[in-house]
This record gives sequence, structure tokens and C-alpha cells, in this order.
Amino acid sequence: MKAAVLVPGGTPLLEIKEVGRPELQPGHVLLRVLACGVCRTDLHIAEGDLPPVRSQLIPGHQIVGEVAAGATAELPLGSRAGVSWIGGIDGDCWYCRHDMENLCDHPTFTGYTVNGGYAEYALARADFAFPLPEGLDNVHVAPLLCAGIIGFRSLRVAGVAPGERVGLFGFGSSASLAITVLQSWKCEVYVSTRGENHRQMAAALGATWVGKEDEMPPVSLDRAITFAPSGKVVIRALSALRKGGVVAINAIHLDQMPAFDYDKLLWGERQIRSVANMTRQDARDFLAVAQQLKIHPQVATFSLDDANKALLAVKEETERGSAVIVP
Ligand SMILES: [Zn+2]
Ligand SMILES: [Zn+2]
Repeated sequence: MKAAVLVPGGTPLLEIKEVGRPELQPGHVLLRVLACGVCRTDLHIAEGDLPPVRSQLIPGHQIVGEVAAGATAELPLGSRAGVSWIGGIDGDCWYCRHDMENLCDHPTFTGYTVNGGYAEYALARADFAFPLPEGLDNVHVAPLLCAGIIGFRSLRVAGVAPGERVGLFGFGSSASLAITVLQSWKCEVYVSTRGENHRQMAAALGATWVGKEDEMPPVSLDRAITFAPSGKVVIRALSALRKGGVVAINAIHLDQMPAFDYDKLLWGERQIRSVANMTRQDARDFLAVAQQLKIHPQVATFSLDDANKALLAVKEETERGSAVIVP
């Protein structure tokens, strides 16, 4: 099969080549990849911000596939399945036994510790593949699978309640999906982001207020979610919070956390929380919400041959919508 293979330190980052098709393993489904979303985490993996764990890797963890082998009762042959970042857990560590599978001590990450979906076929654990809702085509459902699910988890981690004032710092794929959920909860949404494209998209999607990255929302916020891989942005979000407010960091990697004034910024029971991975329940809950709200992301599609261009588009924030590879 054709695949985009990451060779650490390579130029360009991905090599498009023929590799062996994965063989079906017990407890797994073999998917014929119909689409695969490109996530900022793929860029962090490709650029080595996350340490390489395999000498050759097929990235991609927003996989929309058709079940080609290994069918189950929930995922019959030919049906559509989605695979996200969390590709498996050990099931018996302290975290798994305490209903925190997102923090599992021995997790599998799709497109990082195991091969992902920048390819014509992908293998996934059957219990970590989700049936996909009707009503969204392959390309448009792909960004829901990480950007959507983890954005949704971020709202949960931030403790957003209906009607609250919520800040979104950065407005890429994840934030553009979260805003629809926030609107359904009657929240006021304040967006601060760098790219002009992203500000236009936030305004078009009905944000209460939109500003540049160095502009502060005109009100104090109950909750904030940061999407940029920047510690400075976290501190700016923190400085926009009311007492008792929460910043949730939706980023697997941050450049660094600058020193900040505890007395002014964190005192008053403000909190900073990271958002780590996702649970299968987050995935199922969000896919149901997305179907109910008819969430329809903007996408920019790329062929598998252009996988390097897709990564670059995420890096440079050149596209208004989420980048999706169609093999
Ligand atoms: Zn575990
Ligand atoms: Zn992701």
C-alpha cells in the first residue's frame, strides 16, 4: 500500500512510498482509510518535539476508515469506523481501574507509538474504533476525531457551565469545533488569536468578541482554553480569569512556561490544568453531540502525495479549515 512515512530528521519530513499492508491481528480491525485528519500533534511528532519512539512511523490519528477485515458486531464489514489519538490502554493500571483511562500508564497512541492513517490501510484495536454517525461525509467527520473530541474534553476539564463567559486562545481546528458546542450551551465566547484567517472564521462562527493575540477580552472570563503551543498564551489566558476561574491547556507540547506573578494571577483559587488525551466516553459523547448539533467543520483536503504540504499548512496556519488527507 501507499503510505506517508516519517523518517526522523528527514527532508522533507514524510516520504511517500510503498510499504506492506498491515496484517490483521486478534482484537483489531483493518480499515481501508477513507480520510485522515492532520493534527498539530502530528507536526510535533514530525519535528521531534515529541521524542521519536519508532525508527519509521506512519503518522495520523484522525482516521476515517471502512472496515475491511476483523469486523465486530458494532463494526460490521464495510461500515465506517473512526480512530483517534488514544489507540489502546493496558486496562489494569491504577488509572484504568479508577476510570481515568486517558492517563493510563501504558497507553498506545495512534500515529505515534503505532502506525496511523497517512496510508491506504490502517490497523486499529477494535475496542478503540468508534462507529461514525450518519450525516457527515468522510472528509468532514475526520477533524472531529481528535480536534473535536479533545476540544470537547477541554471544555469538560475547564468545567464550563451553561451561560458562562469562555475564552478561546488560538482558533485552529479544535477551537472552531468547540465554539459550536459552547453556543449550544448559551455561553459567551471570547476569541483571541494570531492569524487574520482564524479571526475571520471566529467572527463568522458567531464569537461574542474577537481580538488579536495581544488583545485582552473586554470582560473577565469564567473559563479559558488555550490551543497555541505557547506558555505565554497560557499566562495571558490566566490574566483574563475571574477568581476561581480555570485555564485548560489543550496542547500536548508547550514551548515553556514563563515565570508569572502568583499573587496577581493564580491567587484567588484560579487553576491551570492540562488536558491529557481522551477517554472512549469522551469520544462517544462528542460524536453524539456533533451529530445532534450538525457540526460541519471547514476542511482543506490534500492527497496522500501532498502529505508534506498538509503538515506545512497546519504549521503555517494557512488554511481556514482543518487539513484532511484523502488517500
Ligand atoms: Zn492503564
Ligand atoms: Zn490530535
